[in-house]
Amino acid sequence: MKAKCGHVTEKSYADAHGGLCRKCHSNFSFILELEQKYGEDALVEYWYARILTYPSETKEEIVCFINHLIEFYQQKLTDVPSKTNYIKKMLYMLRSIQEPFDIQTLR
Ligand SMILES: [Zn+2]
Repeated sequence: MKAKCGHVTEKSYADAHGGLCRKCHSNFSFILELEQKYGEDALVEYWYARILTYPSETKEEIVCFINHLIEFYQQKLTDVPSKTNYIKKMLYMLRSIQEPFDIQTLR
């Protein structure tokens, strides 16, 4: 079946892991762990580095995963109002990764 992230996976796996495939779920866990261990600045820096270094082939692969993250942080925006500044920064980073695709779609 197709997972929420757009990749093909076993239904039982996706059901148990927030609708993600194995690869995206492991990326997602890594991001949460990084945030927990090294703090919010580290995560912002991580995304900034990735925006600069992602080759466009990889970007296509992760764009649906980015959608999942945007959803996740949008939910957080409502749940954790004290972190609004940080969460908005994250959303900005994530949207910067998406941006080039939107331009390509318009062409
Ligand atoms: Zn996936």
